[in-house]
Amino acid sequence: RIINYTPQLSTSDVESAIERAFGVWSAVSPLTFTRIVQGEADINIAFAQGDHGDISPFDGPNGILAHAFQPGQGIGGDAHFDAEETWTKTSRNYNLFIVAAHEFGHSLGLAHSSNPVALMYPNYIFREPSTFSLPQDDINGIQALYGSSNRPIQPTGATTPTACDPRLTFDAATTFRGEILFFTDKYFWRRHPWLRRVELNFISLFWPSLPNGIQAAYEDFDRDLVFLFKGRQYWALNGYEIQRGYPRDISNYGFPSSVQAIDAAVSYRRKTYFFVNSQFWRYDNERQFMEPGYPKSILRSFPGIGNKVDAVFQQDSYLHLNVTLGKGGPVYYAFDLSTQSVTRISRSNRWLNCR
Ligand SMILES: [Zn+2]
Ligand SMILES: [Zn+2]
Repeated sequence: RIINYTPQLSTSDVESAIERAFGVWSAVSPLTFTRIVQGEADINIAFAQGDHGDISPFDGPNGILAHAFQPGQGIGGDAHFDAEETWTKTSRNYNLFIVAAHEFGHSLGLAHSSNPVALMYPNYIFREPSTFSLPQDDINGIQALYGSSNRPIQPTGATTPTACDPRLTFDAATTFRGEILFFTDKYFWRRHPWLRRVELNFISLFWPSLPNGIQAAYEDFDRDLVFLFKGRQYWALNGYEIQRGYPRDISNYGFPSSVQAIDAAVSYRRKTYFFVNSQFWRYDNERQFMEPGYPKSILRSFPGIGNKVDAVFQQDSYLHLNVTLGKGGPVYYAFDLSTQSVTRISRSNRWLNCR
C-alpha cells in the first residue's frame, strides 16, 4: 500500500517505480505482490521526513535515503523514503526505482551484501532502470529464503564480468598506489599485491562523476596522480579524489585533433607512452611536452606484440601490454624495455588470479 507520495514525481511515476521495484524480486522468486489502496498491507510504503515515529529518524538531504523493516507484524516489512531527498526517474540522484528495489529486498528479509555489484550492497549506485536486471548475488539471496521462481525458464543474473571468463578484455589498466586497476565497461577490478581475492567494483561507486568505459589510464608516480581517459577527455585522480578543473581536453598533451581516443597509456621513467591505433606517442612528464618524432609504429618499436594495445601498465621495469588476439582471446605480453623484447606471454586474466 502506498500511503503517500512525493511531490517531486507524478503519482504515476511513483507507482510505476514501485511496481517495477517489486517486479525485480517477483521475477526471480515464487513471490507475487498485490497493491491495496486501503486497510493493512504487509508492506506499507511512505515518504516521511525527520523523526517520523519509528526508531530511525531521517537526516535531511543525502546520507540515509530510505529504510525498510525486516518482515514481521506491524511495522515489519514497511519501507520509508526520506521525503527530503530529491527523487527522480532519471540518472540524477536519487532514482526512486533503484532505491525502492533495494529497500524491498530488506522488506523481504534480505540483509546487506558485501558484494559491491549486488543490489543489496549498502551504497546507492545508479543503474539504468530500463535495462536493470538483478545481479546473481541478490538472486541467490532471495532464492535462499523463498525458493526459485515458478517460471519455466529460470532467470539468470545480470551479466557482471567474470574474472575467469577467457574472453574478458580490459579497456584500460593502471597501477594505483601499489595496487593494479583493470577497467572493463562500467566496472573495475582491484588487484592488491598481498590479497588473494581480486575485487570487482563499479566505477561509479568510487568516482560517481566519472563516465563508464574508461579507455586508458596511467599513474604518474612523481606527482602521485592517476590519469584516466575517455574520448578526448581526461581526469586526474589523487587517491580517490578527482582533482579540480577536470575533465580536460587531450590537446593539453599536444595531441592533434585527429586523435579521437587513446587506447592505452603507461608512464615509465618519466615518459608517458600513449597508444593510439597502430601508433604510439611519447610525452615527457618533466618538461611537459610531446616528444618530437612521434607517433611511431607499435609494430616496429614493440616487436612481437602486434599492432594494437587495449591496456597497459608498468611493473618491475616491464610493460605489461594487454592485447586482444583474433581467435585466441586476450593475452598480455611482458615487454622488457631495456632489451626491447617480449619476455613472457600469458592470458590477460592471469592478473585476476585465474589459471
Ligand atoms: Zn521510518
Ligand atoms: Zn539497505
